[in-house]
Amino acid sequence: MASPPNSEDGGAAGAPGTSAATLNVAAWSPGDDVIEVQRTPAPGPTRSTWRTFVETLRGLGTTFGRFHETPVTVQYPEEKTPVYPRFRGRHKLHRFEDTPQNGAQAGLEKCVGCSLCAAACPADCIRVVAAENTPEHRVSAGERYAEIYEINLSRCIFCGYCEVACPFDAITMGHDYELSDYDRTDLIFTKEMLLAEPLERTPLRNEGE
Ligand code: SF4
Ligand code: SF4
Repeated sequence: MASPPNSEDGGAAGAPGTSAATLNVAAWSPGDDVIEVQRTPAPGPTRSTWRTFVETLRGLGTTFGRFHETPVTVQYPEEKTPVYPRFRGRHKLHRFEDTPQNGAQAGLEKCVGCSLCAAACPADCIRVVAAENTPEHRVSAGERYAEIYEINLSRCIFCGYCEVACPFDAITMGHDYELSDYDRTDLIFTKEMLLAEPLERTPLRNEGE
């Protein structure tokens, strides 16, 4: 490519102590490797008006074409959006359904307080404090149980790693997504909250929806 013009006096022009140097500025040529951009001519007033008219008609065609469709607005919170079965929402801790506890047919907790879920959690939002089971006070089916089990749902990213890491299927992720609250501390779910059934269930999508 051709270089931009330079003064031909070796840079002496304007140097102190020299006479008035003559600048011989040659006309700059872009050369053969420069591609000129070809632009279409600007539309005239007739073409602009026609194009606006046609585009408006096209937009109206889309609007009227959807008039026969039923509304898709969901009246939340009275009506909840169904979720897919694989949706990961609020956690749930589980009990065995048929294990005796202190002689009664109450379910023992599946969680043995091993903290594998806490170790797998990338958001570091699970806190487990384990304690020993005793013959008088048996809470889980293992040697130990989770005396404290908390999940800070304001930090949880709902990745599901805790569910995958648990060797006893003691924790799973449900479908409930209504978890907002006015106070952050209310989003720390305790073991009792996680063992309890959610108050309201989120509907699931049917197959193929
Ligand atoms: S879903 Fe992910 S971020 Fe949330 S508690 Fe489980 S491992 Fe942690
Ligand atoms: S939920 Fe599972 S992984 Fe987490 S502490 Fe309990 S048994 Fe261990």
